[in-house]
Amino acid sequence: MTTNNTTLPDIEQLTRLANQLFTALPCDGSLLNAGVHAASPQATTAAAESGKLTQLASLAERHIEPPVETAELNKLLANYGTVSRSSAPSNTLTTAPSFYFLDAAQQQQALSTVELTVKSASQTLSPQSAATADLDKVTGLSSLAGQHVELPAETLELHKLLASHATVNRSGIPSNPVAETAANPTFYFLDAQQHPHRDLNTLGLVSSHAAFDVHAVRRDFPILRERVNGQPLAWLDNAATTQKPQVVIDRISEFYSHENSNIHRAAHELAARATDAYEKARKTVANFLHASSPEEIVFVRGSTEAINLVAKSWGQQNIGKDDEIVITWLEHHANIVPWKQLCDVTGAVLRVAPVDDNGQVLLDEYTRLLNPRTKLVSFTQVSNALGTITPAQEMIELAHRVGAKVLLDAAQSVSHLSVDVQALNCDWLVFSGHKIFGPTGIGVLYGKAEILEATQPWQGGGNMIEDVTFERIIYQPAPARFEAGTGNIADAVGLGTALEYLQRIGVPNVARYEHELLGYAIEALRGINGLRLIGTAAEKTSVLSFVLKGHSTEDVGAALNKAGIAVRSGHHCAQPILRRFGLESTVRPSLAFYNTYEEIDRLVSVVRQVQAGQIGFY
Ligand code: PMP
Repeated sequence: MTTNNTTLPDIEQLTRLANQLFTALPCDGSLLNAGVHAASPQATTAAAESGKLTQLASLAERHIEPPVETAELNKLLANYGTVSRSSAPSNTLTTAPSFYFLDAAQQQQALSTVELTVKSASQTLSPQSAATADLDKVTGLSSLAGQHVELPAETLELHKLLASHATVNRSGIPSNPVAETAANPTFYFLDAQQHPHRDLNTLGLVSSHAAFDVHAVRRDFPILRERVNGQPLAWLDNAATTQKPQVVIDRISEFYSHENSNIHRAAHELAARATDAYEKARKTVANFLHASSPEEIVFVRGSTEAINLVAKSWGQQNIGKDDEIVITWLEHHANIVPWKQLCDVTGAVLRVAPVDDNGQVLLDEYTRLLNPRTKLVSFTQVSNALGTITPAQEMIELAHRVGAKVLLDAAQSVSHLSVDVQALNCDWLVFSGHKIFGPTGIGVLYGKAEILEATQPWQGGGNMIEDVTFERIIYQPAPARFEAGTGNIADAVGLGTALEYLQRIGVPNVARYEHELLGYAIEALRGINGLRLIGTAAEKTSVLSFVLKGHSTEDVGAALNKAGIAVRSGHHCAQPILRRFGLESTVRPSLAFYNTYEEIDRLVSVVRQVQAGQIGFY
């Protein structure tokens, strides 16, 4: 049986349980006459990891006799399948298509297993638990153990253990251990003595707050256990996209398993479940951004689509010849191209606020650009190429003074800083789900209610209309009028779960940890000969862009990749700002709250080796 791997926690737990159970069984088939069986060394090690599972294993162990029931239990566990590290699913389903077809004897056996399962479930599980489809499968295991559990106390104990390892219940609330972990934020914090990096005190980088237990967080992200080129993966490409916690993966799976339907229009139960889940996600986003109502939240594909939506709807309706649009030199192409296109169509003028040599917006220059012709200002809260945090509140206030509307690109900020759209007073704000531990293909446009209401839709189609005749169309109010067609329902739900997850950990806690980690990384990289950091703003987050004298950015990226360290090298879809520094590309490690000091040490060590000519890619 495949050992521990990167899939659902229940699969892992069941696999571990199976390993414990079968490792503990004597090879000669003699069994457990003496009650609790003395475990093998491997089983003992596993037991140390998971006391609860050992209890379950020992309960089952005491009552299962080989070979028939062991084989049956084995089959039940195999039905759960596992996915091996190579990421190729290795369960019975994928390796043996004949698994789908039973012969007559197997059909009989399957029927009796189902009977046992149902009986055991009704005896031992609460009606609510018994109704849970995933738990039904687990109950198959319970039934095998249950046949032999005589004492009510043990039945109860087994039931409790199984319940605590249940997957996701029908109410849509994940109840697996990962979710429970995330639900208990104190789990993520260490006391003062336990700071995750030994040298920080001496560097004066430790804050007085309880240290963030990064290893507890990492356990929530299965992909972080991946190995790349024989090395543990160090995911330092978070500005490009972030990894997903198990709760998000589970939530999407739960949606497709129990709720999948198109939304809003049908009269049936699943449409109601899907609509509820989707609209709940909208509320979660509104709450996360401190919007005044969920009606201010439009689901889109990502930041790029959100900016295009504003440019192609509000922009085309409100910007005319000689009007001015102000952006900054820091912008991602997604916040340049739609405005340049709009200017080309309307005859408006694009003005660009410069930055200083540290990558900070020159506020005086920015202020000088603003005038009564300025209809729109659009800028990033955090630069994806440099990590600069712009003084957003001040810049918004200055733009409003001349009557301009302001769009804030929060693609790089929401996963690092607390964002409050009411305090910022921006007119629109955009972000992408995939950069904040949620799925790809889903993102958010926040817009002030009165602006969204006054804006004609961009795309036409289903979902966004109230009434259609061949003569006239009446649109839905916002946000529906901006969500034409069938949207990315499941991933909106997944995004809601990602935001809830992040909120449980607390963005201020994330910000504090990342600030210390970034400070540590900057100091360490600065110590490397020939390394030039690009973007040295006093206020910055997450991003560490650099070039290394005598080595191309591609070579540095390749050396890091060989060591299992994922960074981006290139222009980061922000060519103007790199050219401002005389560059076409940089190496860009970027941090998230699950990165560690050890990963920074590995990064620095590989860059040092490249610099010393110990690793070459020529
Ligand atoms: N703005 C910024 C600052 C970004 O970093 C990105 C993505 N790199 C985008 C916009 C575009 O995001 P997406 O590709 O998810 O639409």
